[in-house]
Amino acid sequence: MKVFFKELRISTSRRLELVDITYEVEKAVRESGIKNGMCLVYAPHATAAIIANEHESGLMEDMLTKIREDYPHDGKWKHNLIDDNAAAHLASAFIESARIFPVKDGRLIRGTWQNIFLVELDGPRSVRRIVVEVMGE
Ligand code: ZN
Repeated sequence: MKVFFKELRISTSRRLELVDITYEVEKAVRESGIKNGMCLVYAPHATAAIIANEHESGLMEDMLTKIREDYPHDGKWKHNLIDDNAAAHLASAFIESARIFPVKDGRLIRGTWQNIFLVELDGPRSVRRIVVEVMGE
């Protein structure tokens, strides 16, 4: 089995933001030369997440609205007493910081309406590192 590792460096510009990283992830899969296996997309951060869904501006706003509703920034969170970002930690933990995609015939398999997004939950950040690891043959 071959393992290919690449780290993307993504900058974000808002506190809550979806950044489409589909192009960069698929580029990494091509660079890996791996034809069949799987691709892990992982955000090694406690206040970011990875999702796969439609790149439609209204829906992308809906996603952020849902996150704001589920994890209000000004909620009575204990972590806010020491670091004013409990909502970002909670959203990261429950949305999850990784997604796995199948790779078949050299291509990452995803639905037509499944782009891959970094979910920034505590931005803006000059650098968010995103790990793309492709494993297979
Ligand atoms: Zn914190």
